[in-house]
Amino acid sequence: MTTPAAIELDAVSKVYGGRSDVPVVDTVSLTIPAGSFVSLLGPSGSGKSTILQMIGGFTAPTSGRILFSGEDVTGLPPERRPCNTIFQDLGLFPHMTVAGNVGYGLTLRGEPAARRATKVEAMLGLVDLAGFSGRRIHQLSGGQRQRVALARALVLEPSVLLLDEPLTGLDERLRQQLRDEIGRLHRRLGATFLAVTHNQDEALALSDVVAVLRAGRIEQIGSPRELFERPANAFVARFVGADATIKPQAVEPGAESWTAIVGDRRIACTPPPRRADAGGYVVALRPERIRAAGPGETGDLGPVDVVAATYKGRDVEVETRLGDGQTLKFLVPVHGGAAPPSPGARIDLAWTPDRALLVAETRAAEA
Ligand code: ADP
Ligand code: MG
Repeated sequence: MTTPAAIELDAVSKVYGGRSDVPVVDTVSLTIPAGSFVSLLGPSGSGKSTILQMIGGFTAPTSGRILFSGEDVTGLPPERRPCNTIFQDLGLFPHMTVAGNVGYGLTLRGEPAARRATKVEAMLGLVDLAGFSGRRIHQLSGGQRQRVALARALVLEPSVLLLDEPLTGLDERLRQQLRDEIGRLHRRLGATFLAVTHNQDEALALSDVVAVLRAGRIEQIGSPRELFERPANAFVARFVGADATIKPQAVEPGAESWTAIVGDRRIACTPPPRRADAGGYVVALRPERIRAAGPGETGDLGPVDVVAATYKGRDVEVETRLGDGQTLKFLVPVHGGAAPPSPGARIDLAWTPDRALLVAETRAAEA
């Protein structure tokens, strides 16, 4: 017998009331194995929070079913579902202390004060907030508040934790710190975590499985590596960082390798995971893997004209224009040794690894 999934979405759709009958979540099916870390990744407005709220029981699906451990919970209120949600705005009680916030759910459950205090202290230690129990919420930094929200949810030992954009709005250093912390908590607690985010780094770093969402529909479900190496289409490729894309004039299928023709260059590409119309393909590259070919070296593409070089902190972003007017951007690390080419220069581009990704512009159903 196989263990039932922690959460299952079975053809779940959501149409909000009003005149518009466009579903904001459209026939989403998803299986979340017990103990896994799954992320929903998609741009703002793609339906991530709505999905989370339907799983938590705060919004009812228009159609479809939601199952927890094989049991249909579609009609159950939030408090009867074995999960806890951390909302994007955290929903902490500003007038209460840290300990009051973290212990709130235990109080509701009627947990005796002494046991409650022990659990709260232990949980605060776990999120690195030992000694903060008497503080008020307004005396805390954004990252500390986020950790209070985590502790408040985790102290109830939910078998499923739902996180809505847990790292959004924090500065870069805190984001990394808290991201690592969430990963550690997941491994230590063995609970099922489902996070939604618009940030691909976050999703790829934390998750066993990522579902990429666009306009209420799942474009691809896979491990971070699968999404990275075999994006199903151009949307997924761009979203996971292969956002240097070129439209070829033509493609030539092959067994091991396809050829994309750009200008008078023939570019070797991985075969597309999904077929499209002849004009429906895009060559996708990672901007950090493109470089200017050295003098005397024939690159993979070119010549291209450098039109701009913009300092971005860690990298310089170089914008180039191809012969047919398309633009292609790539990144030169500031401390990488090689100086970025200057605007006005005409260069060849080269990249590693040798083969570019060839992907369909749209999902199969639309092609
Ligand atoms: P995300 O979390 O990915 O940004 P949401 O799930 O919040 O997306 O929203 C998806 C779409 O549904 C958006 O177009 C949003 O405007 C709409 N929407 C969200 N909540 C409501 C609501 N309560 N009533 C009507 N429309 C809503
Ligand atoms: Mg949202």
